[in-house]
Amino acid sequence: MDALIARAINDLSPARQAVALTGAGISIDSGIPPFRGKGGLWERFDPMEIAHIDSFLRNPAMVWRILVKDLKDIIDTARPNDGHKGIARLEQLGILKSVITQNIDGLHQMAGNTDVIEFHGTFAWQRCMTCDRRIETSQVDASELPPRCVCSGILRPDAVFFGEMIPPAALWRSQEVASRCDVMLVVGTSAVVQPAASMPVIAKQSGAIVIEINPEPTALTGMISDYLIPGGAAEVMNRIISGLEGIR
Ligand code: NAD
Ligand code: ZN
Repeated sequence: MDALIARAINDLSPARQAVALTGAGISIDSGIPPFRGKGGLWERFDPMEIAHIDSFLRNPAMVWRILVKDLKDIIDTARPNDGHKGIARLEQLGILKSVITQNIDGLHQMAGNTDVIEFHGTFAWQRCMTCDRRIETSQVDASELPPRCVCSGILRPDAVFFGEMIPPAALWRSQEVASRCDVMLVVGTSAVVQPAASMPVIAKQSGAIVIEINPEPTALTGMISDYLIPGGAAEVMNRIISGLEGIR
């Protein structure tokens, strides 16, 4: 791993337009469970059953009870870990420009990144399905499910359910920053959910170096990414940042 960390420091040090693509893995150390893999929500529930827009429309109270309420309790108290902080530090160092995140937890903004593209929307806000009013999730009274707006419409997360479109502006901007970046750091994503998983492909085709940080190989490993640093986001980012700060 030492040689790979050194290689990443070497690749990132001259970069000025780096972009990070992040997934659920980066937030595990902040106490937010991933969907897939060990301890993931999918071990307990069928994603298509719970996180599909049709399920929400059919039975919003059930989806709120199983998915949204637990997530709300977890996300309300979660704080950025050294993985998020390291990516924010890359921006301060003038190396990284943007973060494309599949996460809906708001932790990159909390860590200090200023250009965060929320590919799958956000859980920090709920939206009324009747009048479109937005309300901060932390302000939502979830004592009765589903929670309702002052207009009595049902509140839904301002996030993308399965079966829904990616917000067009997020998709365009992601494609744009991916095609312009010099390095793409792919952190904590299994890279199987499309179209997010095609952003490293765009980066690669545009000439960027693609570096993965993940304890496990992914769909990109050996195909799209130049190399995988096998480890957790917090530990690996700490080592990369120490190295970069040593150079400056
Ligand atoms: P995923 O659950 O499919 O994959 C998680 C990846 O993280 C795996 O490849 C795993 O090996 C890796 N990982 C595990 N521990 C890690 C660590 N300490 N450091 C770095 N990587 C680690 O996640 P995904 O690819 O993001 O796709 C799932 C979808 O679920 C996303 O679209 C996202 O919207 C949603 N989701 C979001 C959150 C969140 O906001 N934090 C949480 C769960 C799911
Ligand atoms: Zn309303």
